[in-house]
Amino acid sequence: MAIRNQGMWTPGVWELIREHYPDKYEDIEQYEEDPALFKKYLESQGIDKCVLLAEDSNQTGLVPNDYILEYSSECPEFYIPFLALNPNKTGSYGKNQQRFVRSVSFCCEQLEWLADRGFRGVKDYGSYNLFPYGSELMYPFYEKAAELKLPVLFHTGESRFDSRKSKKFSNPEGLGALAKSIPDLVIIIGHCGSGKYFESAFGLTREFQNVYLEFSGVPPDFIRSHFIDRGLDLNLIPDKLVFGSDYPALPNGPDGIRKNVEKYQKLSENGVLTEQSLRGLLGSNAGRILDLY
Ligand SMILES: [Zn+2]
Repeated sequence: MAIRNQGMWTPGVWELIREHYPDKYEDIEQYEEDPALFKKYLESQGIDKCVLLAEDSNQTGLVPNDYILEYSSECPEFYIPFLALNPNKTGSYGKNQQRFVRSVSFCCEQLEWLADRGFRGVKDYGSYNLFPYGSELMYPFYEKAAELKLPVLFHTGESRFDSRKSKKFSNPEGLGALAKSIPDLVIIIGHCGSGKYFESAFGLTREFQNVYLEFSGVPPDFIRSHFIDRGLDLNLIPDKLVFGSDYPALPNGPDGIRKNVEKYQKLSENGVLTEQSLRGLLGSNAGRILDLY
């Protein structure tokens, strides 16, 4: 039990798996303890590199940095670890500015230490941790990330794990000012703003050279209806699109990675996505951001 709670997915995600995919529960439990087995599974889904995300969030729980680092180190050529830090653990944001600033400064020190140990990027759970994306109080942290060449993936938009309070912080709009202020920071808008903020996420990605759109949790079936048909032509930003599986909480279930990839390929065959967009989305952009090739 302790292992599960310390594991790769947070308790909320386990609940979701139990509820929707009870037949997958045991497989997933095994993957959590066996990096080589999980790698084999992902390869069967057409994945040749995998970013593993730590999580440190007031809404969803903890997937510790040290666990992700240790897990990744079993297959270092395959897994790419991303760390997570929460500067608002005590809820100081908006209540006690000095305490929040001190906490951000402590996170900066940890960031440096963790980057030194092999982390290659950051997942920022600002909304779950109840502070707005692009808050100026966080700038020292993002400056440090830019200096260490760590891209930051922001969890944006609303999800089933949000509370009424955290929803208020899910808007990615503030990332525009951040992109402008720290042009060396690679900003990846996770979940494309997740439904409510597709338009603003697309706009920021078009406007700023250092902003990217990441598609985890966005069903490929949405591409035509929610983007292209609404004038958000992804083919205008082919070098800004990044695939994300959201495994195991992904739209077509835990076995949906290959299905989703095939749906994207179909969109290209049908002319909805250009070949260049497809190539960028399915790997070449992430490869460039993560310096893999
Ligand atoms: Zn997320």
